[in-house]
Amino acid sequence: MKQNEFRGAAEATLDLMINYLENVEHYPVLPNFQPGALKRSLESGFPEKGVPFHAILEEFEHSILPGITHWQHPNFFAYFPANSSPPSILAEMLTATLGLQCMLWETSPAATELEEICMDGLRDAVGLPDEFFGVIQEGGSISNFCAILSARESKLNYLGNTKGLWNESPLTLYTSEEAHSSIDKAVRMAGIGSDLLRKIPTNERFQMRPDLLRMSIESDIAQGLTPFCLIPTLGTTSSVAIDQLVPLAKIAKEHGLWVHVDAAYAGNALVLPEYRWMIDGIDLCDSFVFNPHKWMFVNFDLSALFVREKDALRKTFSITPEYLRTEVDSQVNNLRDLGVSLGRRFRALKLWFVLKSYGLERIREMIRSHIEIARELSVTIDRSEDLELFLPPSLGNVCFRLRSKSDADQEKRNLENARFLNQLNSTGKMYLSQTKLRGDLVLRFCVGQTNTSREHVFQAFDRICQEARHFR
Ligand code: PLP
Repeated sequence: MKQNEFRGAAEATLDLMINYLENVEHYPVLPNFQPGALKRSLESGFPEKGVPFHAILEEFEHSILPGITHWQHPNFFAYFPANSSPPSILAEMLTATLGLQCMLWETSPAATELEEICMDGLRDAVGLPDEFFGVIQEGGSISNFCAILSARESKLNYLGNTKGLWNESPLTLYTSEEAHSSIDKAVRMAGIGSDLLRKIPTNERFQMRPDLLRMSIESDIAQGLTPFCLIPTLGTTSSVAIDQLVPLAKIAKEHGLWVHVDAAYAGNALVLPEYRWMIDGIDLCDSFVFNPHKWMFVNFDLSALFVREKDALRKTFSITPEYLRTEVDSQVNNLRDLGVSLGRRFRALKLWFVLKSYGLERIREMIRSHIEIARELSVTIDRSEDLELFLPPSLGNVCFRLRSKSDADQEKRNLENARFLNQLNSTGKMYLSQTKLRGDLVLRFCVGQTNTSREHVFQAFDRICQEARHFR
């Protein structure tokens, strides 16, 4: 595309974007797309001579869009949301236009400083302690990985990176059986080994049990192992259980462990003063992550990692070859020193656009409204003849399943609920996901897409009830 063709192509793309967002509700949330369908419909390979831009946009609309799962559909209730918003989209357009690579302060001073301003503002907006330093990472998994590596290095006086782990007594990490799989992955990547990951059982509300945490740590110490890190979760992926930081972190601190809090989804709700109880005990914690790309109307991807000691990240990750040195290194933060990747996108811009454009008050209203809709949904499910509320709701998430008329065993009930979920999703009118809690398969209905209203949720609920009646 020549520079003088850019304006026309940009206007056509903008029209497509606006039409898409105005009509997203009319698409099936989950596409009816068979494996291999795109490979069969698009020509393979690339042309020797470029094709006109309008032809590319047409192919996008006719071949690619039909295979898209519409995360910004207001009836997207699966997983956790990856919600988006107009100011965030516009910031992404500017970010792409600038095409920055923000590895060093010097490679884009304002990008680094805006990130620092945004992270300080975000820290204050969610009530984290003033000493916490924030840095943007690609996602919750990478943030968890960075925290685990920093915890490992802190325990080893920052010698693990150079000497390796082979001569140390084995390190052990503690989290709950409900923790996210990114912790399992990070433990492998950090050279700890999955066998030394302790998954502490949970209570009837799926919260990590402090008594069993203590037993596990003390038994490991007695065997000559070295406990180094505890990871409580605020908002587990399956049921949004909230681990209690105070008793857990106290035990960890008695034994010199780093405490990292995984609040990937639930951390967003800390903008609401009425949910600050979730971080009672944060003064005992060393690091904390939440993902504004989940529930703060900021486009995927943007994860906010906060650490009490910035130096722990720097000493873990910083390597400075000659080609990365600059004159101002001693006066500034070079954010590539605080994470895995060298190259960094200008992610702060979308956070800044969103928070400035809505203001904290509006963000609070939107999150509060999702929580209230989820609560009303749970009350209605509880009263329903065909559905059973599996757990009280937590934040925007409701776990439920079909009410059992017979005394079918767990396996049969699970199969029935899995078929029911497929049936609901195949209508294209909603997208829900499933999980297992103590072996019971349940459906997760998570309210959090930016434009989801009470009407969307209760229309989906009516359809769920209709399907449930016909289903069995
Ligand atoms: N932690 C929790 C509790 C999560 O629910 C998730 C994802 O849903 C993650 C971590 C991983 O986040 P990401 O998908 O940004 O890597």
